[in-house]
Amino acid sequence: MMKKSNGHMPRAIVVGSGAGGAATARELQGTFQVTVLEAGRSFRPLSLSMSRMERLRNWGLLFNEMMIRLVFPAMRVRRTPEGMVMVNGSATGGTTVLSAGNALRMDGCLREIGINLDREFAELAREVPVSTAHQRAWSTTTRRLFEVCARKGLAPRPTPKLVDDTRCRRCGRCVLGCPFEAKWDSRRFLNDAVRMGAELVCGSRVTKVVIRGGRAIGVQARVGIRSVFFPADLVVLSAGGLGTPVILERSGIRCEPRLFVDPVLCVAAPWPGSRQHQEIPMPFVVQRSGYIISPYFDHLSFLFNPEWRHDADGVLGLMIKLADSERGRVSVHRGAVDKRLSVRDRDRLAEATGLCRRILVGFGVRPEEIFLGTLNAGHPGGMLPLTAADAETLHARRLPANLYVADATLFPHSLGNPPILTILALARRVARVAMAAHAPTGVERVSRSA
Ligand SMILES: Cc1cc2nc3c(=O)[nH]c(=O)nc-3n(C[C@H](O)[C@H](O)[C@H](O)COP(=O)(O)OP(=O)(O)OC[C@H]3O[C@@H](n4cnc5c(N)ncnc54)[C@H](O)[C@@H]3O)c2cc1C
Ligand code: SF4
Repeated sequence: MMKKSNGHMPRAIVVGSGAGGAATARELQGTFQVTVLEAGRSFRPLSLSMSRMERLRNWGLLFNEMMIRLVFPAMRVRRTPEGMVMVNGSATGGTTVLSAGNALRMDGCLREIGINLDREFAELAREVPVSTAHQRAWSTTTRRLFEVCARKGLAPRPTPKLVDDTRCRRCGRCVLGCPFEAKWDSRRFLNDAVRMGAELVCGSRVTKVVIRGGRAIGVQARVGIRSVFFPADLVVLSAGGLGTPVILERSGIRCEPRLFVDPVLCVAAPWPGSRQHQEIPMPFVVQRSGYIISPYFDHLSFLFNPEWRHDADGVLGLMIKLADSERGRVSVHRGAVDKRLSVRDRDRLAEATGLCRRILVGFGVRPEEIFLGTLNAGHPGGMLPLTAADAETLHARRLPANLYVADATLFPHSLGNPPILTILALARRVARVAMAAHAPTGVERVSRSA
């Protein structure tokens, strides 16, 4: 199937509608006629209540994490050979719809190679709601945990959230999709792009970029059972840290075995009445060298880890999120992820686990009751890292001139921190650079303030 150009604007294909894709599509639409190709369907939050999920678990019906897709198709889960559970979003909004809503500027590794995104962050601060107002409604448990961390000199800080506090009902279901539209996700930017004329094609999985004579002429995608060619003058890949490298390699473009994922481990204990699952997730954060710690109800472990057999109301957990070594890859064969923790990663994890234990004991937990969750991860990236040589062009030389990447794949290092805000800023800049290089002169821009 060939799509027709409208005759005025050149065509751009944006692959993926997560943080990178939505930001890019919104920026490009108007200068280009954008088509967003999204492998997943229109996002819907998980509707099962916590008590239902708990019953399914108690009846022994939840065997492994992969089963989550049966009730929540927007969440894709796979396991590495070492047993780490990789989670990402596969629906409109990508993984942002599953986010805990944390919004931190984390562009240190980009600054180091000469990329200054001040302008983009300043614009985002006006367009995306970020607030710590949730602090006013913290539960007693969260307040006490915060005090314990402060007393230990860990300098906890309320986490800035992509959440409209006036709409938030403290249901604690951010990572299952906000049922009250209180949490910002990239569908807002996607909707802006569509209002300005972009086309969104859900259920279309791009298999490769078609390259002729050193230029990308379009992409090949599976749409249902059909293989469809979408022609384009510009192609931007934003299929995420696990999706983009697969498309690149299938298109004959080599990626680096530098996958990072920000591994997550929860350290928890029974604490009757904690009701942490009804608190906003990750309400505050402790920043340490190489990892962060934050209070968290770990749904994945709660539902699928046999060690985690406590009532939802009665568990108190701390999440460790690690900045891991850049070592690993995703395979073109079914997207299998090969990611192993290095000795440095394991040492950091052990240090962080010890610190969490001390915080929990300081809270009043009995040390012998502490248990661990399932090692998992949801911030993949790094397989086509930007270097100082790319600081102006944001474009690796091995790519055809009119093919760009705009997602976490570009990060030179793991952030060990929430990446959405930084991906939004970087993707916007990529779109601008691409427009400057490839938009024909005389094309008038449509206003973005839809
Ligand atoms: C449970 C969880 C909680 C998180 N919480 C936070 C948080 O609080 N704050 C934060 O900053 N970050 C958070 N993150 C991480 C953050 O959501 C992601 O890092 C971010 O969304 C990545 O953006 P991206 O554009 O690189 O990819 P994604 O947002 O993953 O988007 C990629 C999109 O591409 C689509 N796609 C993939 N392959 C193809 C293909 N072949 N063809 C077409 N489409 C394709 C996917 O379906 C998806 O929609 C969280 C992650 C998880 C898993
Ligand atoms: S706590 Fe509930 S209402 Fe508030 S942002 Fe998260 S999911 Fe939405």
